[in-house]
Amino acid sequence: MREILRFRQVHLDFHTSPAIKGIGAKFKKKEFQDALKAGRVDSITVFAKCHHGLSYHPTKVGTMHPHLSFDLLRAQVEACREINVNTPIYISAGLDSVMAEAHPEWLVLRPDGRRLWANTPLDAGFRRLCYNSPYMDFLCDQIREVVALHPTCHGIFLDIISEEECCCKWCMEWMAKNGLDATLPESRKKASQHTLRRYYERATAACREQVPAMRVFHNSGHVTPGYREIFKHFSHLELESLPTGGWGYDHYPMSAKYVANLGLDFLGMTGKFHASWGEFGGLKHPNALRYECAAMLAYGSKCSIGDQCHPSGKMDVSTYEVIGEAYDEVAKKEPWCAEVKNIADVGLLLSASLGTAPAGSSDRQHRDDVGANRALLEGHFLFDTLDTEADFSKYRLLVISDSIRIDAQLKKKLDRYLAKGGKLFLSGQAGVAEDNTFLFDVGAKCDGLSPFSPDFILPRADLQPAFVKTPLVMYSPSRRVRVTDGVSLGDIFDPYFNRTYAHYCSHRHTPNELKPSGFVCGVMKGNVMYLAHPVFTHYQGNGAVAYKDFIVNALRLLLGQPTLAVKNLPSTARVTLMEQPAQKRFIAHLLYANTILRGANGSPTGAVEVIEDLVPLHDIEVTVRLPRKIKSARLVPENIPLETKPVDGGISFVVPRLLCHQMVELA
Ligand SMILES: [Zn+2]
Repeated sequence: MREILRFRQVHLDFHTSPAIKGIGAKFKKKEFQDALKAGRVDSITVFAKCHHGLSYHPTKVGTMHPHLSFDLLRAQVEACREINVNTPIYISAGLDSVMAEAHPEWLVLRPDGRRLWANTPLDAGFRRLCYNSPYMDFLCDQIREVVALHPTCHGIFLDIISEEECCCKWCMEWMAKNGLDATLPESRKKASQHTLRRYYERATAACREQVPAMRVFHNSGHVTPGYREIFKHFSHLELESLPTGGWGYDHYPMSAKYVANLGLDFLGMTGKFHASWGEFGGLKHPNALRYECAAMLAYGSKCSIGDQCHPSGKMDVSTYEVIGEAYDEVAKKEPWCAEVKNIADVGLLLSASLGTAPAGSSDRQHRDDVGANRALLEGHFLFDTLDTEADFSKYRLLVISDSIRIDAQLKKKLDRYLAKGGKLFLSGQAGVAEDNTFLFDVGAKCDGLSPFSPDFILPRADLQPAFVKTPLVMYSPSRRVRVTDGVSLGDIFDPYFNRTYAHYCSHRHTPNELKPSGFVCGVMKGNVMYLAHPVFTHYQGNGAVAYKDFIVNALRLLLGQPTLAVKNLPSTARVTLMEQPAQKRFIAHLLYANTILRGANGSPTGAVEVIEDLVPLHDIEVTVRLPRKIKSARLVPENIPLETKPVDGGISFVVPRLLCHQMVELA
């Protein structure tokens, strides 16, 4: 059965040192309830066991915090039950300092002899346990005990789940028994994959042994696209993505647009912190949380905000006032945000989904995926992000990220997609075989990589950035593309020479020759377009607006009329269109806040993307062309009807004012 998650959740971190006294001493039921009410919270994830390995309830399996004198977990759960707040329960899985000290042999031992997380004996912090060691038996006993104590809790949240190369006694024995040479990285990878698979099976079974319907979530800090085999062990997904904590503001949309097609209910997880987890006394501006929660709704998810409780058990009043500002708005918007489906013209096939990046890998995002996601967001396209198993037929246009090597199986799937009228956008390596032949008929030949770097492009007039009519520098080599029966999208200009010790010009690179090289920067034939540079990687790395404009112009040319078009909206604004099938309506979301980089690297938190001011935008023109006739448009939840005008194949209307987030119901 599909899980229905609540909209206004808090993840109440409680990693509390055994060196601190008076744990939970200031916990008062009424104050706890008042904080949750002030925050408009309807679900809070509370702690059974933290990264220190300490339990917050009497336990026969683990170790209760030495300075806790009562069952704090039960007190929190009961306080919540009285005010109808759900309580999923957290258990730290991968980190457990009590067990790390009692059984150092259970720790992950990296091939170079170091530990994971805190590397050396003198580093402060947690150390990572190996799930292939007897620690796994202990963890399962601990999970079973928590479920037995709280069979009616609203799920088990297991944290720090990842696949790690390990040379502990048990991993070495497993490799030897399976004929694997531990000196080879691929052997260690096989062992770590085995360990992770066993973890998912055993931990999920432990959660559900006594309560088969128990919700389970395993947190890796990121949902790795394409790694579908693990989702059977999840009841729902929680997308950890603290924009200021290293994930950035564009990570969440890319991740949400991927998981929305997996058939699991999901929530977004940000933090109340100025920076990230564990930042006691750190609080972001209320406007940032308002924006982040609105974004979660706009991308079709429920909301969760991370907080960390003081060891005394006293809830932070400022935190719950700030959360309340954001969740007050969420509460009003919920009726238009439940059980929604993202409408998308474009599918972006993520290169990360074809990689072997395991769950929990620090390689969260591929450069070309980030660049493509950003260009699509800023160009206000309606899109989903995909893996190769996704149903391509839903999309009018597919973007294949520019580092993707298309194999025979994917080629077949794309051929079928094209045969049914789909459109294909390729760039860089995508669509080019190892021998430099094009895999699709793009109306051109490829002579391999250019010997020049950087080189320059001059797109044809309709694809040029509005402000660049002259050759634009591109900081990595193009593929040498000669047009045969396709349509050229513009010229490549070579530099006079590459910059070397033997010849160089000025401070940076060599200027372009005045004559075009004879090769093109892009080509199009029928429904297939190919750009000769890895344009998305360029945009991710360099950020030049001119690159984005070229990409967006090319995408618009190939796509044709979009389902939703906006005028008068800056690139930093975001647009989505959701369908609520049960209510027979569509919801357009307009979202806008400006992030600014503040602080400095080297300061305790480093530079952080801050949202402080919410600036209103006015008179945004929206045109929608949907397969179903739309009779009315009104601002919700304000219930203000908008005047609509018929246009070819749809309607248009003007949103008079956008402050942070505005929904328009189309029925
Ligand atoms: Zn191991």
